[in-house]
Amino acid sequence: MQHEPTRFNCVGCGACCKGRFIPLTLLEARQWLERGHDVAILLEAFKQLHWPASEQEYQHSLLRSAQVSCGNTHVQVTAIFAANALAQCPNLQADDLCSIYDERPLVCRIYPMEINPFIELKPQDKDCPREAWEHGEIIASATGSDSSLNSLIQVSRLADRADARAKIAICNRLGINVAAWKAEALVIQFPARELLLEAINAEEPIPESGTQALGRWKLRVAQSSLGEALARGELALDDAESVDYVFHALR
Ligand code: SF4
Ligand code: SF4
Repeated sequence: MQHEPTRFNCVGCGACCKGRFIPLTLLEARQWLERGHDVAILLEAFKQLHWPASEQEYQHSLLRSAQVSCGNTHVQVTAIFAANALAQCPNLQADDLCSIYDERPLVCRIYPMEINPFIELKPQDKDCPREAWEHGEIIASATGSDSSLNSLIQVSRLADRADARAKIAICNRLGINVAAWKAEALVIQFPARELLLEAINAEEPIPESGTQALGRWKLRVAQSSLGEALARGELALDDAESVDYVFHALR
């Protein structure tokens, strides 16, 4: 719950355009690739049986995931298509301004607000310098968020849900079928630009809804105790070291 009103005024420092992945909707990912830039795919899996947080958080994650087969059972997988801005965003100019400002992705319009309803906005967790929080419009308060930002957040959440199954179908087309365990690690794939664009543009229809499992996947975990627990739950683990993806442990 937000108590004190939070004022914000972007000072154009460009810090939020460096050293990160920038999540994109599926439409934005296609446009990003068509501009000649790279898109990475971040993959995480979860299952209600092993869910550690509240039912509401589970439902939120469920809506932005797709069911896949795994071992003798099923698991939910979320694919995040994200612009690769690990060095810096390719659209960031030398003057720290955005060269596609009027067409920038939703998340760039929403930052520094949180899209996940279960994460509270904390200025200290953001890249914006202190002076950005000293003046400007109130963007969050006890009565809610700025209405225009809130509208963008809703659009982003709806896109996450609408794209969830299509993104997994695209991964299947690319032969991508390993996900990390949610909150423990991420599997990060760096598909070739042309192949990813081809998979997104494939003519066969991509399912927007439905409950049938989309492909057969495996899980990669960092901790052996977690792996043993998941294997007891008849989930299939990917034990082999792979050069196909980066495995990034989160804890
Ligand atoms: S698209 Fe523009 S606003 Fe978004 S990260 Fe790149 S440079 Fe920054
Ligand atoms: S880090 Fe904050 S202040 Fe700097 S450009 Fe990004 S949104 Fe603006």
